[in-house]
Parts: sequence; C-alpha cells; structure tokens
Amino acid sequence: MKILVINCGSSSIKYRLFDMNTETVLARGLIERIGLEGSRINHQPAGKQKLKWEEPIPDHRVAVQKALRALTDTRYGVIGDMGEIDGVGHRVAHGGDKFSSSVLIDDEVKKAIRELSELAPLHNPPNLVGIEAAEKVLPDVPQVAVFDTAFHQTMPPEAYLYSIPYDLGRRYGIRKYGFHGTSHKYVAQRASKLMGRALEELKLVTCHLGNGASVTAIRGGQSVETSMGFTPLEGLTMGTRCGDIDPAVVTFLMEKKQMTVQEVNEFLNKECGVLGISGISSDFRDLEEAAARGHERAQLALKIFAHDVKKYVGAYVAVLNGIDALVFTAGIGENSPRIREEICKEMEYLGLKIDLDKNKVMGEEKEISAADSRVKIWVIPTNEELMIARDTREVIENRGKM
Ligand code: ADP
Repeated sequence: MKILVINCGSSSIKYRLFDMNTETVLARGLIERIGLEGSRINHQPAGKQKLKWEEPIPDHRVAVQKALRALTDTRYGVIGDMGEIDGVGHRVAHGGDKFSSSVLIDDEVKKAIRELSELAPLHNPPNLVGIEAAEKVLPDVPQVAVFDTAFHQTMPPEAYLYSIPYDLGRRYGIRKYGFHGTSHKYVAQRASKLMGRALEELKLVTCHLGNGASVTAIRGGQSVETSMGFTPLEGLTMGTRCGDIDPAVVTFLMEKKQMTVQEVNEFLNKECGVLGISGISSDFRDLEEAAARGHERAQLALKIFAHDVKKYVGAYVAVLNGIDALVFTAGIGENSPRIREEICKEMEYLGLKIDLDKNKVMGEEKEISAADSRVKIWVIPTNEELMIARDTREVIENRGKM
C-alpha cells in the first residue's frame, strides 16, 4: 500500500510518499512560494539525487499536480502512475472537540474543518485548500484528515476547562485543545516499543521542543494533560511565542501601547519567546552559539526555556503520580544536549538522572538516563508524517467495517 502525506501551509506544500508495506519513504518534497514570484520545487526521491527547480505555480491545485508529476516522472519519479497511490493523509491543525481520531474526508468533515477555522485562522484554511486540491487531482483516492488536536481529546475536564463561566466556554468552544498530538502519540508508541513494555501500563511525559513547543502527560497511551491550550500560544516559552503569561498583560499592553487586537496577537505570536528575551534570534543554534560567546540575554533566554520545561515536567509527574519515562523530541529535544541537561539537572528527587555522556546524542533514538535513574530518559526523533501515513492506512482499511 502506498500513502501520500500532505502538509499544506498558506504558500507551501510538504509531501511524502510512503510504501506502507515496509514503512519506508519513497520520496519527499517541498513546494514553496505557491502563488508568488519565484515558486520552486524541492524533490527528493529516496536513494537518488535531490532535485530543485523553479517554475510558476499559481495555486495549490497546480502544486499538487506538480508533486504528482514529480512522483511519476520516468527519470526521477518513484511510481509508475498515480493509480499506485492508495490514499492521501492530510495534516489538519484543528479538529476542535469534534474529532478525537483521524477520519475519512467527506463533505461533512470539510464543513467541520471550515467551521473550525475560527479557532485556527492561519492553519485550517490552507489545510482545507490542500484537501480540495488533492481531491481534484486524485478524485478516486480516499483522503484522510489527521488532526493535531485529536490525541488530546482524552483529557479530563479538570485539565481542559478554563475557569471562565462554564456556559460561555461551551458556547464559544473556549477550552484547552492541545497541539502536536501526532508527534506526542508517535514518540509515546516508540517509547513503549523501545522499552519493551505495553503502552497501556506506561506513564510518560513527552516533550516536543521545536519552534513550537509543548509537553504532554500520557497515561496508558492517552493524553491526560498538555501545555498548549485554546491556541498554540499557551504553555512553554517558545521560539517567538510568549507561552504562559498573566492575561492581564494583554489588556495592559493594548491600553499602554494602543495596540489593536491584530497587533497584540501578532506581537504575542511573533515577537516574544526566546527571540523577545534574547533580542537576537528564535533559533536555538544561534542562541547556544551566542551564549557560548558570553551573550547574557541569550543565556537568559535558554535558562527561561529550560526552566519552563522543567516546571511542566514536575507538574505532570504530579498529575500522573510518577512516571516511567521522560521523552525528548523535535528540533531542540532531539539535537540539544545543553537544553536537555539543563532541564534534567537537579531532578533526582523525582527519580530523574541524566547520563551526560549518553546525552551527547543528536537526532537518534537513544536512552540517555544514568544506570541508577529510576525514570528512563529517552531521545526519540519524531516522525509525524509516518504517524499520519499509519493513521491513513488504518482509516482506509477499516472503511465500511463500522
Ligand atoms: P518546527 O517543526 O516547529 O518548525 P523543529 O522541530 O524543526 O521546529 O525545531 C526547530 C528548532 O530546533 C530551532 O530552534 C532550531 O534551532 C533547533 N535545533 C535544530 N538543530 C539544533 C541543534 N543542533 N542544536 C540546538 N538546537 C537545534
């Protein structure tokens, strides 16, 4: 079975074609600047040379067509024709409380994704554009939506409710949804495999630390708490997002600086986080380099980030009444020994002890806890695309079985 995974942004499409018999990637690609000057395709067939070319791509439908043309090209393609594609899995940002698992896309599902755009105005509309483009180009192929929020739908009300008037919260859907669900679910499943223990018996805290960052408490394979909220702004200090702040700061700023709703939204999402603190970059590689050169605010930004993660880990260990493993993933979680060390430092009380030598690992699956650490600590590179492909296969195989 071959599954095409599509992650559609406002002016870009990432695609990956999987052979699900072996769970291997046949080709991957990135189409950028759709509808803009200088649109280009980066196409990488497995085991062959990477290709890059520029050509006009006016809209997402043409982009999907180009991706399929690349995949079926006689020289750098990986399949004979489009008929070999058995299903398309789409990453969709927000499924609200309507979707607790991945679903086959029909008109009802598209309508729901459209309605949920109110909660994810930057992400759901392009996701929908990607779905409609793929439907047009591959009309007979089943399309599946995999939601970033779905995994967190198992949270109990005491975790997902905000303390605002109950009816108001329900009327507008104001509650915690959580994001990065596909990634947290993937690394939890991997941790269970690597530890040789059933997911049902494990208590885990997973840290997805990338440009966007979140921590999740997982009991028996189900999310019971997560740090992102109504939007991906809540929780940890991130690259450019502020994370948890007193909500009164928002109204104070709006008044003081005469900011509009849009301006304050932009500010909290794009100008805060470690970028705001350091004043130099949102990229942790830049920050670590600057910190090593003695840049004090870069050092401070890294400290704040690690402190936030530590605080959430501690809180979630309390929520779960102890954990079996702590998992690090995504750009920073997979590649930054410094940040992992800082987070795990002085956590012996909670049974966490990192092995500094093992912690040197970057981008590989590895246990990094000390031999006498009660709690295992793991680095597990995430693979959201594979998780989407697996879900897509499952939904397609179970079609009509309900
Ligand atoms: P997203 O998918 O949310 O855009 P990623 O998961 O790709 O983000 O993570 C991006 C972050 O990972 C960036 O801040 C980047 O600096 C950081 N990162 C990547 N490699 C390293 C590294 N070797 N050391 C420290 N940070 C790294």
